[in-house]
Amino acid sequence: MMPHWSAVIGDPIEHSLSPRIFRFFRDRMSRNLNYVALRLPPSKLIPAVASARNRRWVGWNVTLPHKIAIMPLLDDLDDSAREVGAVNVVRFLAGRAIGYNTDSEGFLAPLRAMSFPLEGRRAVVIGSGGAAKAVIAGLKRSKIGSVRILSRSNGTLEPKIVRETIAMADLVVQATSLGMDGESSPLGGKEQWKRDALAYDLVYRPVETPFLCQAREGGAKTLGGLSMLVSQAAATWRIWFDETIPNQLLLEVQERLKKVLQ
Ligand code: NDP
Repeated sequence: MMPHWSAVIGDPIEHSLSPRIFRFFRDRMSRNLNYVALRLPPSKLIPAVASARNRRWVGWNVTLPHKIAIMPLLDDLDDSAREVGAVNVVRFLAGRAIGYNTDSEGFLAPLRAMSFPLEGRRAVVIGSGGAAKAVIAGLKRSKIGSVRILSRSNGTLEPKIVRETIAMADLVVQATSLGMDGESSPLGGKEQWKRDALAYDLVYRPVETPFLCQAREGGAKTLGGLSMLVSQAAATWRIWFDETIPNQLLLEVQERLKKVLQ
């Protein structure tokens, strides 16, 4: 049988972990799939989508800077993409290109796996970019009690506001790019966390971020961004192949990625 083709498109793309994740899924799920990383500058997006429909693509993962720009080029958008206002997965089927967003599902799946209750609880989301929008959509769908957004753009990342807000929260999601340098954090480091509160960082490179370290010191439980990364990939696999990746494989691929990143 001819292989399926799939890709992650973005610019830059060299550091993407998606090829490692999807090649691991392919090998363990015994699929005849080629998965490539395509560096696609913004000027090439329109012709690339136009010519992709009639090729052997099963789908694409879409990353920066194309997540919003690709939306009007597609034939249809799933509710998940409309809700977040961005596309991170495309499914090509019968000459059509459909856009999805798996970030909300990827964010929620690890919380479900650890039986962390969301209904009626107090959440804080730090950041207001694309990832934060997916997180907020997922929290609202899960009947969260309240969501407070702290961000640089609305002037609420002041140490006092951060400290007081965190002291009341059951879940704090770090959805900015702070911490990717291994040093920066939206926290001051003097926060006292509620008993059983969870600090969830979406940043996965480095695996141990300053936010996670500070939160642990303040008494919180912690969750890093790798579990979301592999869960959104599993949700992609479901869209492309209608197959569920077993939890054991998700844990295995996560351990492999940790070794790559450390
Ligand atoms: P965006 O560029 O859309 O948003 C970035 C956010 O970070 C904005 O809210 C921005 O604030 C904030 N920010 C950047 N620098 C600072 C700073 N110095 N101080 C305060 N706030 C700052 O990126 P995304 O939302 O797509 O991604 C955010 C992070 O989440 C990235 O690190 C990404 O790797 C990670 N991510 C992880 C995923 C996973 O699967 N684990 C999935 C998706 C993203 P402002 O609006 O004020 O500019």
